[in-house]
Order: sequence, then structure tokens, then C-alpha cells
Amino acid sequence: MDEKLIEKIKRLKAERKAMILAHNYQPAEIQDLADFCGDSLGLSIKAAETDAQVIVFCGVQFMAETAAILSPERIVLLPDKLAGCPLADMITAEQLSELKQKHPNALVVCYVNSSAEVKAQSDYCCTSSNAVEVVNSIPQDRQIIFVPDQHLGRFVAEKTSRDLVLWPGYCHVHVVITEADIKNAKTKYPDAIVMAHPECTEPVKELSDAILSTSQMLNYAKKSTAKQFIVATEVGMLHPLKKQNPEVEFIPASDRAICPNMKKITLEKVAWSLEDMQYKITVPEEVRIEAKKAIDRMVEILPSKMRKD
Ligand code: SF4
Repeated sequence: MDEKLIEKIKRLKAERKAMILAHNYQPAEIQDLADFCGDSLGLSIKAAETDAQVIVFCGVQFMAETAAILSPERIVLLPDKLAGCPLADMITAEQLSELKQKHPNALVVCYVNSSAEVKAQSDYCCTSSNAVEVVNSIPQDRQIIFVPDQHLGRFVAEKTSRDLVLWPGYCHVHVVITEADIKNAKTKYPDAIVMAHPECTEPVKELSDAILSTSQMLNYAKKSTAKQFIVATEVGMLHPLKKQNPEVEFIPASDRAICPNMKKITLEKVAWSLEDMQYKITVPEEVRIEAKKAIDRMVEILPSKMRKD
């Protein structure tokens, strides 16, 4: 059945001159089908560089929006319109506007996991790979508001020794990974290296050997000689790690770290998306122009290597 479905998707993809992008947290069969897998910004940059007319973004709403911000001339499809990101939804443009009024001289850095409207109100966008570099590029005497993820924000504040104004947002998938999960996994696999995503809680990060974004985890595991890793992030990440390093063992820090929104994308929905050209993700032009400025400022301050990290 899947074989037939995959053939159908490939045929539709050719007919539509489409490209399929999949986030590292997508179900394994979607990652295997995709033309490119990666993190949200890496995929959006890929979307901006392609000749394809249609982008099927296998991820969540804000990711497809980011692709639409960078590639307004292309059709960006999200196979399930209900695939949202609760973290991105934790701050609205109105709430950010109120926060800015309380700190009128502050610059705003927003994590890419945010709506187009929030990006449009921000000075800089950032990813978990480059948030430290983005904050470091801002003059020391400028106050900084960092939204919406408090755990990434604390990690950045510590790394940069800056006092950031944080928003109390969090990723419900990463905060289910507990200190006890890491301690148990370390007892069971004493030689394993612990890699944790910066969206994890502070106690989890303190017990980890390396705090890395998903793309950084792939680079780190590739360069390391370690044979076992405990991975504290969404469980979908184990698929690209294992694929890239088949001789290495990757152990999920918690089997509960599953993003239900990422798992809403199925092969059937990808086929249907290409067939019916749904759901088209668009961003109003006035919002897109402002949101793009925040993304462009981020890209400008990064060395070229980091832009796709
Ligand atoms: S894993 Fe967390 S941040 Fe990523 S899409 Fe799911 S809820 Fe959002």
C-alpha cells in the first residue's frame, strides 16, 4: 500500500514541479520520502533556493509560514492545516506589542518558532543554532526582549552573560523530559554522551554533555567517536541520527517526547496535499515584508556556514 502511495506522491510531485521538505521531527516515512530534511530555517532557506514551483512543507504552521516569507513567489503547502506549534502560539503580536511598550528601548529577538505577525514586530529572528550569535551581535548597552521560549532564552542569557527580558513560553514536548529521565538513562548507559536541545529545562541541560540544536546534533554525532548517545529532544530526531550513523546507538531520553503536531503529517495527507494543492500557506504582504527584515538581519550577522546549520 505504501509503495503505491509513494509512487503516487512521486508522480504528483513531478506533475506539480514540487519539492518535499521535512523537518527532523517528522515521522520516519515522511523524512525518507522528502527531497530535503533539516531544521526549520535550513528548510526555508532550501525553499528559497529551489527552482520548484510548489513546496510541500512537512512540518508545522510557523515553518511553512517562514518558507512563504522567504519565497513569496512559490506555492507553499502544509499537508495538515491543524499542524500548529503550541510554543509559537504562546505569544501573540498584541502581547509582544504590550511587552515592547513596557521596555520601549529594547530590541526584540524572536525565536523562529513564532508567528509571522510576531516576527514582523521583532528586530531579529533567531534559531536554536544561532540565538547566541544573534544576541552577541547586539550592542551591550541595548536591552533585549527574547520571545517566546523561556528555556532557550535562559540558555542564551547564560552563554552571553546578558540580562534578557524573557517571555514564559515553552515547548510542551521538551519540558516533559525530566531530570530523572536523564539520570536513569545515564545509569543504564554510563558511557553515553547526553545531547540536549536548548528548549529542555535547565536541570536537564545541566546534566547534559552538549546543548545543541537538531542540526548541531547531527554535526556533533558525525564528528564524535562515541558509540552511544542519549538524545534529549523530540523522538523523531533519532531517525536522521541513526540514518547518518548506523553503527552508533541513539537512545531517546524520554519516549514521551513526541510532538503530536509534527506527527499529524502522513503519506496520505502529502499525496492529498499535492493532488488538491492544499493547504496553501500565505502571509499578508505587509506582514511578510516586516517579518523578512527580522530574518534578513539574522542571516546578515552570521558567517555563511552557520546560515544552514
Ligand atoms: S516540538 Fe515543540 S517547538 Fe517543535 S513544533 Fe512541536 S511543540 Fe512546537
